[in-house]
Amino acid sequence: MPIFKDIASLRQWRQSLRGTLAFVPTMGNLHDGHLALVRLAAARAEQVLVSIYVNPLQFGPQEDFAQYPRSLDKDLQQLHAAGCSTVFTPDDALMYPRGRKDLSIIIPPHSLAKVLCGASRPGHFAGVCTVVNKLLQMVQPEILILGEKDYQQLRIVQQMVADMNMTVQVLPGPVQREADGLAYSSRNARLSPGERQMAPRLAATLFDLVQRSTPQASVAELALAGRESLEQAGFVVDYLELRDSETLQAVNIAQPGARWFAAAHLGQTRLIDNVMIPL
Ligand code: AMP
Repeated sequence: MPIFKDIASLRQWRQSLRGTLAFVPTMGNLHDGHLALVRLAAARAEQVLVSIYVNPLQFGPQEDFAQYPRSLDKDLQQLHAAGCSTVFTPDDALMYPRGRKDLSIIIPPHSLAKVLCGASRPGHFAGVCTVVNKLLQMVQPEILILGEKDYQQLRIVQQMVADMNMTVQVLPGPVQREADGLAYSSRNARLSPGERQMAPRLAATLFDLVQRSTPQASVAELALAGRESLEQAGFVVDYLELRDSETLQAVNIAQPGARWFAAAHLGQTRLIDNVMIPL
């Protein structure tokens, strides 16, 4: 399994490739959520490239860039076993050779990027779009695989691809969960044993809200009940909202296709999740 650290050898490999290339960008510390995306990629394309890069541009000054878990050796072993063909592990000097100030950046539409996580993480989605755009220019895949776990990120990247007339096909992968419902996340490793026990309550609350979502139900009352149940369990809730799956705008009728989104802190760890009201 070749591991590229520079653009020249990556491009040389790319030019010699036959068949379709699917690309799975990650920040490493891989888990079954990432590996499911790798398997989806392998089912859709002859070649699979996974990138591992913790992108400083998408972390705010008070966020956990320095503490973000890194485990490259273990990641590489898991990728090999999951059928990944190639890994790209750029570093900051390769991604941002002139530094991160005064950089050309991609600013996503405010309607998608200033809501939900964007409201409390200014600049986060511009950082995501900029790095994904750079990685796409380097890797030149036919297919880009992104997880629905980060649903807002998925929608914003889909919109960037459409707005910039990029030819890459964006393929979403469903949220992968532990047996108790907690969505896999690299940040779960930072939960204390007590927090880890409580963490599945986030997904359980969203699934419960989906169950109670009918066109007659009061969305405001549902959201309040969900928020109270999380707060009683010890979460500090950032948001718990029902939004349209395409526009990400708030909706006040709980109809099929709308999506419950939540972000909440358990101790130092911020967890996010989302569940759609089934069609
Ligand atoms: P990250 O390493 O957190 O940047 O995630 C890399 C990719 O994996 C993104 O497209 C995420 O949406 C996706 N991903 C992370 N966790 C999960 C999960 N539990 N289920 C599905 N996809 C996931």
